[in-house]
Amino acid sequence: MEYFFNQKIARNMSLLLNTVFLCMHIFFFTFFAYYNVKIMESFNIFSIIFYFAGFLFIGKKKLAMYINLMGLEVVVHMILAVICLGIGYGFEMCLISIVAIFFYAEYFSLKVNNGKSNVSGSLLSMLSLTSYISLIFAMKNREPIYVINDTVQLFMCVAMSLITFLVLIVSLKLMTLVFLKSEARLSKQAEYDALTGLPNRHYILRHLNQILEKNEADGYWLAMVDIDNFKSINDTYGHNFGDKALKSLAEILSDEKHDVTVCRWGGEEFLIIGRLMEASRPPFEKIDAIRKQVEEYELIFEAENKRVPLTVTIGAAVYSNETSIEDWVSIADKRLYVGKYNGKNRVVC
Ligand code: GH3
Ligand code: MG
Ligand code: MG
Repeated sequence: MEYFFNQKIARNMSLLLNTVFLCMHIFFFTFFAYYNVKIMESFNIFSIIFYFAGFLFIGKKKLAMYINLMGLEVVVHMILAVICLGIGYGFEMCLISIVAIFFYAEYFSLKVNNGKSNVSGSLLSMLSLTSYISLIFAMKNREPIYVINDTVQLFMCVAMSLITFLVLIVSLKLMTLVFLKSEARLSKQAEYDALTGLPNRHYILRHLNQILEKNEADGYWLAMVDIDNFKSINDTYGHNFGDKALKSLAEILSDEKHDVTVCRWGGEEFLIIGRLMEASRPPFEKIDAIRKQVEEYELIFEAENKRVPLTVTIGAAVYSNETSIEDWVSIADKRLYVGKYNGKNRVVC
């Protein structure tokens, strides 16, 4: 399965970020030009050019360089803005919210470079933190270079607070989505078999334990299904054909009409679980119908256009009180071996 954050997503997110930053700097430029804050007006011309160039960087896949330069631009811009207008305008808050973006950038970089990052979230954040603290000290006994008025200061402070919260909310929300997506992927990998797509032993044991905990085990039967002479199928037609046989068997067992839960127990063994219709005995006819369906299945070795016989032996058992899941499975397993011993291609209940 593909990574949630692959190269394409990282690139698209960077393009989006670049567009947002460009728009912000166009707004800053207009704001500073209107209020005649010359130093910031000039700096923002540089910033706007930088963010236009950013589209080229991203296009040329120089993502890491772009992120590092962007971090530097934001830090320098905010330091200058605070020196020009003082602390009350809220520019310093951007130094806090940008930390979330630095760590995202590091994450992206790790993903697209197979575990090696050219962006250090911690280093860029330290730069931001140091700038923030230094500004607080530096501006304590220092008058800003420009003074506008209280209303504009209030408006700007609200705008910068909104930006800060928005950046934090969006990044943390995204991070939560990444966590959930990764967890879902990992638990699928841990509980499903890659070849057949069926649940694996871990999944079915968890399922059986849930049934046991709810005291409902005596309402179920289980059966171990094992392919007959599978080693010789592999030896004669090759491992790939063996895999094809396993996939075909998985499909037959999962046929909805059987109404059973199927898992790949391991190798060429599958475990099936069904609900008991009448108490105390596994439904022999139903299980034998499954065995017959396998026997009648036309498994074709295409290279020679030849039908290869596929049969299974099945051992089934109902739950007997007070036993463990392992003992329950082991009874079915023993019956399976009785079936093998007595000539294979049969069901033993
Ligand atoms: P029996 O009728 O007594 O069950 O004999 P068998 O040959 O089926 O059993 P045995 O345990 O001797 O061989 C099982 C074979 O299954 C050996 C192993 O190479 C093969 N096998 C296990 N997992 C896979 C798999 O994922 N793919 C393929 N192609 N073969 C597998
Ligand atoms: Mg076996
Ligand atoms: Mg076998």
